[in-house]
Amino acid sequence: MSVMHGLAMQLLRIPVACDEGRAIESLPSYIIRLAQQHVIPAGTLITRLTEAHPISGTASAKAQSAPLACLTRPNRTTADVVQMVALATGTEPIVLRRMTYLFLEQALGRTAGAYAKRLRWCPACLKADVDSGQPAYLRLLWSLSAVEACEIHGLRLQERCTHCGHIPRGYAQWTCLSRCQKCKKQHEDRSHSKVLPSIQQFGLDLADLVDAISRRADSFPRGGVTAGVKKVFDAVWEAEQEIRLWNKLSRDQWIKLALQDEPISLTAARQLSSCLDVPLPLLLEGHVGTAVFKFVLENPPPALARTSAKRVDPRKLQIAFEAILAESHEPPLSLKAIATTLGVAQNTLRNHFPRKSALVVANWSAYRTSRPERYKNEAIAAARSLLSTWHDTQTELLTKKSFLRVLLNRSSLPKNLLRAVIEFVLTEQSAARLILHELDAETRNPLANRAPFA
Ligand SMILES: [Zn+2]
Ligand SMILES: [Zn+2]
Repeated sequence: MSVMHGLAMQLLRIPVACDEGRAIESLPSYIIRLAQQHVIPAGTLITRLTEAHPISGTASAKAQSAPLACLTRPNRTTADVVQMVALATGTEPIVLRRMTYLFLEQALGRTAGAYAKRLRWCPACLKADVDSGQPAYLRLLWSLSAVEACEIHGLRLQERCTHCGHIPRGYAQWTCLSRCQKCKKQHEDRSHSKVLPSIQQFGLDLADLVDAISRRADSFPRGGVTAGVKKVFDAVWEAEQEIRLWNKLSRDQWIKLALQDEPISLTAARQLSSCLDVPLPLLLEGHVGTAVFKFVLENPPPALARTSAKRVDPRKLQIAFEAILAESHEPPLSLKAIATTLGVAQNTLRNHFPRKSALVVANWSAYRTSRPERYKNEAIAAARSLLSTWHDTQTELLTKKSFLRVLLNRSSLPKNLLRAVIEFVLTEQSAARLILHELDAETRNPLANRAPFA
């Protein structure tokens, strides 16, 4: 080991091009510039590093074969390369970790598709770097495949030279990141495309995420999203507002999110963040608190609030209102839910259609009053049915935990209700068994209990 330490590779320490904010540099970019500084190909640099700072056998072999562009992914290889580069350059490991997605490792499931396989760039950003007298560098944000265009310049990201079509090889020799490895021409936008990128292609939420990563000291917590989703689910259930939530995301999607033990994918987290209007970093942190509850429970969604401010055409409104009333709804819709769907205030409906509105209100409140009892009966029925068919349909051992899990999968009722009902049904069953057992004992030995009277 001491020999290894003696050989430990020392590299010149170059400053990170940008170490904070949405435009933070990526680790592959830093490695390329480091290699450039030492006038060796980036691949040679990685090989030397893994020889000089063996982290763990298989991992360093992997580091040598993993494409350079992949060294932002939240996995062991990236973590090892961070450690090697930190040792060799004396850079703080935390600074290098922020140049990757390692902080997402616990919070998100493995989703290789979320990360681009190749190095990508915005030609205008690279040119701006050079023009301002700084080294051209690749942004961490560009390695997420969902980011397809640069939010600053409105240009699509490139992954091949627009002059000669060359796709850069990460581990080869680099002269400058703003120039093509092969034809040496400056990268530029030559698409002449009239079609502008859509706002989704900028991945603005992902830019916020990168910004948050660049300021963090540690990983996003495991299960943060799930914990947050559970909180929302419970609060919305308590307030009897789940219909509004089902409008945002299907009930099945919710149940799945609330119950899964596996970390969710980046795509699912983004979808949820946009549905709930919670910034992605806060969602990953599990901080969905007040912002969401306010949105779900008090105010109509912003888009609908704007619509309701507009003047309404009573004739059109009547047609739409009657169309909704003509459909059968199980459970019935509340006036509030209908008003939200139509993009008007409840009072607008009350003023224009007093009798129809009164009917809706009456139906809804009858339903609401009977609701706790009905849900309880529904839950008991579901639990009894599962219990009686458990041995035929389930391979798992029957425990309270496994029972609850299967029941939750089958039913959309809230967890605490199902939990209570399970207690009830299991007690019921063991009481029944006890009686059966006594009856059984009695039939086998009819004299046993009557002995005193014999
Ligand atoms: Zn740009
Ligand atoms: Zn070229």
